[in-house]
Amino acid sequence: MTTQLFPAAVCGSLPKPAWLSETNKLWPAWLQQGDDLVAAKRDATLLWMKEQEDAGLSIIGDGEQSRQHFVHGFLEFVEGIDFEHKVKIGIRNNRYDAMVPVVTGPLRLKGRVHQNEAKLLRAHTSQKIKITMPGPMTIIDTLADNYYGDKVKLAMAFAELLNQEARALQADGVDIIQFDEPAFNVYMDDVKTWGVDALHKCIEGLSCTTAVHICYGYGIKANLDWKETLGGEWRQYEAIFPALAASKIDQISLECMNSKVPMHLIGLLKGKTVMVGVIDVASDIVETPEQVAATIGKALEFVDKDKLIPCTNCGMAPMDRGTARAKLNALAAGAELARRLYA
Ligand code: ZN
Repeated sequence: MTTQLFPAAVCGSLPKPAWLSETNKLWPAWLQQGDDLVAAKRDATLLWMKEQEDAGLSIIGDGEQSRQHFVHGFLEFVEGIDFEHKVKIGIRNNRYDAMVPVVTGPLRLKGRVHQNEAKLLRAHTSQKIKITMPGPMTIIDTLADNYYGDKVKLAMAFAELLNQEARALQADGVDIIQFDEPAFNVYMDDVKTWGVDALHKCIEGLSCTTAVHICYGYGIKANLDWKETLGGEWRQYEAIFPALAASKIDQISLECMNSKVPMHLIGLLKGKTVMVGVIDVASDIVETPEQVAATIGKALEFVDKDKLIPCTNCGMAPMDRGTARAKLNALAAGAELARRLYA
C-alpha cells in the first residue's frame, strides 16, 4: 500500500448538531437524556464521519460528539472527582474562569471512556482513525484538587488512567491516539520538567501512532484577547519543541494559519511528523484551497513532505456547523492541490 502524501485530518472536535446539544458553546448542555442521548451521540458521530470522508480527509475522527467538553468528557469517567460541587477557578494561568469539578479521592477509571466511539469508527470506515484525549497537564489545569496536594503527582495519576484507556483504544483498532495539551503553551517550564514525562506515561506500551496537539486554544474571546498580548511573534513553541523532538511522541501539531508562529520553529521538530494547522478555527472566513496549499508549501521548507499532515489549528467545537463543513472541504481540497503542486 502506498502511503498518501499530505493525509489531511481534523485536530479533534467538530460542532454538535442542534438536535444533540446547545450550539456555538464550549460547554454546551445536552438536549437529550438516557438512551436518546446515547443514540443521538452515535448519530452525530456517524454524520461527521461521513462529512469527513466526503470532504476527502484521510484520517477520520469522532468529532468529539460524545463529550460535552474535551477535558470534562474524560473526567466524567473517573472516580474520585466531585462534579456536584464545582468551583470557579482561573484556568490557563488565569486567562479565563471556568466552573470545574474537584478531585476528592484516589483516581480510578469507572470503565471504558471512548469504546463506543472507537468501535463505531472502526466499524464504519476503512480509513485511519484517530481518538483524542486531554493530556495530563491540561487536565490538572482544568480542575481543582482537594486530595493529591501536588500537581505532578496528580498529573501522573491521570497519566496512568489515560494509558489504561489508550491501551484499550489500541486494542479496539484505533490507529492514532492524540493527547491535547494546550497547557503546554502556557506552562513552558513544566513541559520540560514533567510534562513530557507525563506524556510518556500516557503512551507506555503502545505500538500505534501517538500525537500531541498544542495550540493557542479555541476561537473564544478570552483566547483571542490573550493572543493580542503575545506580541508580533508567538515563540512559546520554541521553548517546548526541543523537549518534544527528543520525546517518544510520533506526531506534533502547531498552529500556522493566521497565527504569528514563525514557520521556521517547525525546524525544531526534526524527525517528527508535523500536524500543520492550515485552517483557522478562530475565524468564520473559509480558507481557499490555494491558501491551504500555500501554507503547506511554506511548511515544506522546514519538514519533509512525507512527514506533513495538514490539519485544523485546533478543534472546531464552538463553530457554526455549516462553516465547519466548508472548512473541512477547504482542508481536503487544499491537501489535494498540494499533492499536485509538491509531489
Ligand atoms: Zn487546540
